[in-house]
Order: sequence, then structure tokens, then C-alpha cells
Amino acid sequence: MTFSAFQRRLLGLDEGALTEQGGHNLQPPVWSALSRLRDAASRHGFQLEIASAYRSYQRQLAIWNGKLSGERAVVDDNDLNVDVARLSIEECINCVLRFSAMPGASRHHWGTDLDVFDTAAVQGGYRVQLSAAEVGPGGPFAAMHDWLDERIAEGKSFGFYRPYDKDRGGVAAERWHLSYAPLAMEYQNCCTADLLRSLWADVELGQIEAREVLDSQAEMIFERFVARVATPPDSALNYLPPA
Ligand SMILES: [Zn+2]
Repeated sequence: MTFSAFQRRLLGLDEGALTEQGGHNLQPPVWSALSRLRDAASRHGFQLEIASAYRSYQRQLAIWNGKLSGERAVVDDNDLNVDVARLSIEECINCVLRFSAMPGASRHHWGTDLDVFDTAAVQGGYRVQLSAAEVGPGGPFAAMHDWLDERIAEGKSFGFYRPYDKDRGGVAAERWHLSYAPLAMEYQNCCTADLLRSLWADVELGQIEAREVLDSQAEMIFERFVARVATPPDSALNYLPPA
């Protein structure tokens, strides 16, 4: 199957449209909006830093295969390690999908989504976990995220919103994950279970663990773990960068 140029970007197979800053890759309009958000954050004493931005299909495939094969740690909702060998393949997939996307279905493929933290709130050398404890009440990054919530609610977030604002029974709540709505929605609207099936069938891109289960349950998994996200507020979706 040959994918269109747009589909290749959607699936994490083409990073030609991205630009790099500080070791992270995003689309140029996302960098511009992020720069404005960072300036606003710094005026409030926060230093908004990127933990993770663009991730390729190959990178997501390595994460997925590592977790499904037990080579990479899998944690449950309480941050405790799970022994994947004791789970059925379906249980294992459901467990991994709470925190990691299927290769091809990660919003991090698009160059529109990123995970953030507040460098000003921790000592140098601190290792960011991207855990619920860090962003929840009493956590080091809670204050910046409370401020971000206000910005989003007031329509002053320069196009950014939280697709994983709360647990909808699919992907766990991820307060650290921001998405640039004006571009991200174009990708989200074009991602389908069928497109992912043809991606996984392309063996030249590498074998994916548990492909039979993913193939046979693609629609169900897609609905629960890809489609079940927050709708961006109109203010974010219709954000127009200053000319
Ligand atoms: Zn993320």
C-alpha cells in the first residue's frame, strides 16, 4: 500500500515538515505558538520545557514491541510494574494502551503534540517521570498546569488544549500532554482503523507485536484508545497566529 504524503506524516513516516529546536521536532506553526505560550508562562514564573515532542513510527514501534514482549517495563494505573507474562494478550494490550499508543496512532507522530513540564519547579538533574503524582495536587508541576488550565478556559492558550484532560476509560489522563488544535484536528480526522491495518501489514516497516489481535479488534481498540479524546475548545481550534 502506498500512502499519500499527508498519510505518511500522520503515521510518523515522514518528518520533512518538521523543524528542530533543542533536540525536539515540531511543525513550524506549533513552534511559533509554543514560543508565545512559553513567554506567557515565564511572566508567571514558570519555565515551560518539552519532555517529548515528535516521535517516529519506528520509535513507537520499538516502544510497543518492547512492552508487549516484556523487555520494557509496563506499569498499571498505580504506577506499579506489571508482569506481562501473566496476562492474556488482550489484557496486555489494554494495559499498555493506557499509557502508550499503538504504532501509527500516536499523536506524537504529527508534530503537533508535546509533553511539557516546568523546569523552574525542580532542581537541575531532576528526571521527569510524566507521572500523575508530578502534575497532581502537591506535585512539582501542578502550579504550572493549574495556570495552563486557566489559560485554556479563558481562550488564551495560543491554540493548545489537552486531548487527555481526563480518564475516559481509554488512555489515562495525561495532564502533561498538549496538542495544537488547528493542525492536530486535521490529522485526528483522517486517522482510521483501516489506515492503521494497512500500515501494520507493511512488513518492510517492521513486524508489530500482537498484530493478529490488533487487526481483528482494530475498530474496538481504535474507538477506545484513539478516538476517545477531548474535543478542543473553539478558541483553540480557531486560533489564528498573528500575521
Ligand atoms: Zn504525550
